[in-house]
Amino acid sequence: MTTAEETECREESHRADLQNRDDTKESATEERKLRRPTAPERISEILKRLDQLYPDVTCALTHKDSWELLVATILSAQSTDVRVNMVTPLLFKKYPTVEEFAKLEPQQLEPDVRSTGFFRNKSKSVVGAARKIVNDFGGKVPENMVDLLTLPGVARKTANVVLGTWFGKAEGLVVDTHVHRISRRLELTKNDDPKNIEQDLMRVIPRERWILFAHQIIWHGRRLCLARSPQCVDCPLENTCHAEDKTWSTVEKHKGAKA
Ligand code: SF4
Repeated sequence: MTTAEETECREESHRADLQNRDDTKESATEERKLRRPTAPERISEILKRLDQLYPDVTCALTHKDSWELLVATILSAQSTDVRVNMVTPLLFKKYPTVEEFAKLEPQQLEPDVRSTGFFRNKSKSVVGAARKIVNDFGGKVPENMVDLLTLPGVARKTANVVLGTWFGKAEGLVVDTHVHRISRRLELTKNDDPKNIEQDLMRVIPRERWILFAHQIIWHGRRLCLARSPQCVDCPLENTCHAEDKTWSTVEKHKGAKA
């Protein structure tokens, strides 16, 4: 090799070195961006993967109208959708309209909803909500958060289910036990209280995604991100998730990021 060739070879190798350093810097910046839990790039990546995993999901509670959805949601507290779906078809056959529920005494409803648990409180809530809807809202389930929250037994979670699933209105974001757990694991919130978790999610998830995001996360919580033993090895979100309580990980775990 001539001296000129040697010089060129050294220069080429120097250029390659510089290029490698630039590439490493760029990928470190990219990685840092993705690692900031609420970075928009990370959020869109999570949303993209949720879309691929659960493209067409919606609420699993059987219902034909907003009143049935409201009742089913009240009954689903501390119960499962499967259990509620066993109870509601008979219930709505027996009492087909909100007016008929409004005429009941809560005790009359108790045997019909007993298997969903907390049946005394739930019966009171359902009958109370029916009376208020008939007396104050002309027999129609209100379509806004403020009015919905005046109904007995209705807090933000139930109101968000009805507004999002039936009326297609994103006034807030459903925070149930699955959304609570997974938002913490994915570091979308550090809070433990549903109201604060909802506020955190409303800040980081684009509004047009609030309804679908909650449905997708609820399905994810049922299918893969289980409370006791999340199926991380099969989870398409795995390399974006740094949860401390993961059961398998290809990335560093973050202390405190857990259900
Ligand atoms: S990797 Fe594990 S903990 Fe994280 S979202 Fe997936 S299932 Fe849940």
